[in-house]
Amino acid sequence: MNRREFIKTGAAILALSALGGCKKEELAQAGKKGTMTYREFPGIGAKISLLGYGLMRMPKTGNGPEIDKEKGFALIDEAIKGGINYFDTAWFYHDGLSETFAGEALSRYPRDSYYLASKLPMRILESGEQAEETFNKQLEKCKVDYFDFYLLHNLNGPLWEKSLGNGTVDFAMTLKGKGKIKRLGFSFHGENKDFPKILDYTKWDFVQIQANYYDWDTFSKELYEECAKRNIPVVIMEPLRGGELANLRPDAREILENAKQGSTPAQWAFRYIAEKENILTVLSGMTKMEHLKENLETFSPLVPLSDEEEKTLQTALKTYKEAGIVPCTGCRYCTPCPVGVAIPDIFKIYNDYRRSARISVTKKAYEALDKDTRANACVECGACLKKCPQSINIPKELKRIHKEIEG
Ligand code: SF4
Ligand code: SF4
Repeated sequence: MNRREFIKTGAAILALSALGGCKKEELAQAGKKGTMTYREFPGIGAKISLLGYGLMRMPKTGNGPEIDKEKGFALIDEAIKGGINYFDTAWFYHDGLSETFAGEALSRYPRDSYYLASKLPMRILESGEQAEETFNKQLEKCKVDYFDFYLLHNLNGPLWEKSLGNGTVDFAMTLKGKGKIKRLGFSFHGENKDFPKILDYTKWDFVQIQANYYDWDTFSKELYEECAKRNIPVVIMEPLRGGELANLRPDAREILENAKQGSTPAQWAFRYIAEKENILTVLSGMTKMEHLKENLETFSPLVPLSDEEEKTLQTALKTYKEAGIVPCTGCRYCTPCPVGVAIPDIFKIYNDYRRSARISVTKKAYEALDKDTRANACVECGACLKKCPQSINIPKELKRIHKEIEG
């Protein structure tokens, strides 16, 4: 079955309301209820669902990285039924198992009925030959002959310089010509000052950045505008900051609930970010069916926030930021710490406390951590600092947290 036949069967419900690069007012009026919003850009040559599926956080069978295949397949089926056609995986996700899962789940559908994105793991590559070997394994794991979208993963200034010198960038530049990928981009987790020089290196087809209403004025807006200036469509990652913005503390949540009953914090966050006109797709890692269904509803169609709603969201954000939460997304790039400090676990316990203010629960969770992995085990070596994409001063925060919890 080819894409045309597949669409005709209704299995994908691809009601293609192509809204590429549209303005907020047009977006507000377009799209029927129950119809996914799509984006289309010159040069991309595809209609992409504005909600993309990030395969970084799939349901697991236990505490390890293994994905629960049955639940995972059900999620993918529901996503496709709801009109999602963009799936994003990477070498590192689920300790390498995400790509294998993507291959197993998506190969049950015609190859031209979905768009698959994966990423070259720049951080672990030392040469063009190693990059080629890795790339071929990725194709094999994903059970495809080509990637629709392919990214240099997690670039920052120093990694970019290193990758230019060791041949991995050169290798990536050959892939389109060989027909192994359709579109080339990169994901960025560095300092804003290093972004333009990477953008100007070649004519990128798309770029992936972190953006949400929490980070917008701090760094995301500038990255977004650099892309828009060059007409490069943007893929958004971390629209909920690793779930943080779906779990606002009660006072911030209340502000949103009072303004619009029945609308969740996650819906506010998606509506804020996704309406921006240069966005190709917004990735969400949907672990539970209820999250997927809620997100499908939010994007079918996407209704932007009104000016009044934007003001309300900013008020909620102000309340939230005043709570002293550590802006950790739980990505775990800072691990392993050389002395074993459980950095993301500690930040999670602490943030749960700042949200709920239940110190006894917090103390219990903190004390359940092995003594050698608690915050005061940090020797301030600084190894984690350069790995954190959120630029958190990890040793400083650990010190503060230990004092606060123990106190
Ligand atoms: S600064 Fe502390 S937490 Fe970070 S890597 Fe060093 S010991 Fe671990
Ligand atoms: S501290 Fe930084 S690197 Fe570590 S999990 Fe949190 S956001 Fe990721």
